[in-house]
Amino acid sequence: MGRADLHTHTKASDGELSAQELLVKVKSKGLSVLAITDHDTIDGYTEALQHAEKMGIELIPGVELSTIWGKKEIHLLAYGFDPDHSALKQLLLMQRRARKLRMREIVKLLNKKGVDIEYDEVMAYARSANIGRPHAAAVLIKKGYAVNVADAFIKYLATHEVVNIPTEYADVDSALRIIKKAGGVLSVAHPGVMLTTEELKELISTGIDGIECIHPSHNFNVQKVFSEMAKSMNLLITGGSDYHGSPKSEYDPYLGVVTIGTQHVEALKRTCKNRKALLKNSS
Ligand code: AMP
Ligand code: ZN
Ligand code: FE
Ligand code: FE
Repeated sequence: MGRADLHTHTKASDGELSAQELLVKVKSKGLSVLAITDHDTIDGYTEALQHAEKMGIELIPGVELSTIWGKKEIHLLAYGFDPDHSALKQLLLMQRRARKLRMREIVKLLNKKGVDIEYDEVMAYARSANIGRPHAAAVLIKKGYAVNVADAFIKYLATHEVVNIPTEYADVDSALRIIKKAGGVLSVAHPGVMLTTEELKELISTGIDGIECIHPSHNFNVQKVFSEMAKSMNLLITGGSDYHGSPKSEYDPYLGVVTIGTQHVEALKRTCKNRKALLKNSS
């Protein structure tokens, strides 16, 4: 049975590789199923669609949504949705806008600290990518304010002030409603670094379909706890490497290493198929 990676990033968000370059890399690792889960955009997935089939790689539609849950920002992985669904397209446009607004606020905060950085400079660096803090990190490094990405986050981008900038990201309930309407499922991304077990259970009770049990930030014991929790709650198990394509990034050695069995992908596809059939019957 083949292996799958359901968590990867490309240049369409904060990854380093184009979708095509990622496919080549994934192929070289012997994986048979891939989900490109860029932050709040499916541009990378759309590009990959043109190449995946002839390379013998099955692509699952995916996206990593930044959402609001109470006072927290939660990453939710959406899979198997209809990428042309109008409400989904609208959601992604709003998320792109929210990211730009947040970046304007981040730049303002940095300027107040005496850092010489401009919003347009960060946007130019990111080109057509959906903007995120790693793009600001690259500009800070280029200008000598930080020695590497981790340094830029510690000093400037993961400060209390930046983390607490109010955003216009969708809330968990809206994300759930839209992804389900588009025939997809939602899995909680890397819960080990975001949530306590109690919080995770509460979040799941809102109607989440799965847990990302397998992630480079989860050690073997954490993987086991989440996998058992998913099984006992009849939830989907998802997982992947969170590959960003940079040799400097902490998770990048894990492409082809942190994977899941394709039986989990089959279960995910069945849930989406059933959901789409129900939607068809009720319309
Ligand atoms: P954003 O989407 O703007 O909130 O940025 C989040 C992204 O920044 C994550 O997906 C990682 O790729 C990266 N990131 C977050 N925290 C760190 C960190 N401490 N060091 C390096 N990269 C980070
Ligand atoms: Zn990222
Ligand atoms: Fe994430
Ligand atoms: Fe990610």
